Amino acid sequence: MLDSPAHQRFPFPDRVIVLDPGHNGGGAANPGVINAQVPDGRGGTKPCNTTGTSADDGYTEHEFNWDVANRVRDALSARGFRVVMSRDSDDGAGPCVDERGTLGQRVDAAAVVSIHADGAPAGAHGFHVAHSAPALNDSQGEPSARLATAIRDSMVGAGFTPSTYVGSDGMNPRADLAGLNFAERPSALVECGNMRDPGDAALIESPDGRARFAAAITSAIVSYVG
Ligand SMILES: [Zn+2]
Repeated sequence: MLDSPAHQRFPFPDRVIVLDPGHNGGGAANPGVINAQVPDGRGGTKPCNTTGTSADDGYTEHEFNWDVANRVRDALSARGFRVVMSRDSDDGAGPCVDERGTLGQRVDAAAVVSIHADGAPAGAHGFHVAHSAPALNDSQGEPSARLATAIRDSMVGAGFTPSTYVGSDGMNPRADLAGLNFAERPSALVECGNMRDPGDAALIESPDGRARFAAAITSAIVSYVG
């Protein structure tokens, strides 16, 4: 059988990718929602969500995360992937981190990528990528580490600097992120840069910088699931 034009245009119709833009624009106005305690995936609890950080001039992390995630969604959709977002706007509160963490298995995703930016002291700069460690299931083991490594490699290839202040070579495996702890599909979280650092903030606040972050994340996802 010859491939139909539709098939050629949509080579991965069965490949679902979850994108999780961190936080949400309505979180700060809804403390009762985001401060509610939810399971953290390792036997404890933590707040449903946080407001996220911001740059010194007020540009917010949730806005950055939302912008980059939409760029990645558009690029993946154009390549024929089905993309599911953890939130559908930038003006709501939640979903909680445990709900974000189970989304991958609920839609049978091939990969789950959470997109964030950090708020560390000025002078500390660069990106880092987290995956769950120690792993709580097979997906959190080699598959998630490989997804995180693909993102790290793609970010380095795109010219971004690995973090100067946390982790090692841009990798920062963690046990305290509920979204990763609940994952039963390959999952990683990227902190694209430090919003409190002038150099990183300039990248984060510029449309060209956000396009570069999105291109690097897209290319990592394609290489991982391809
Ligand atoms: Zn964040």
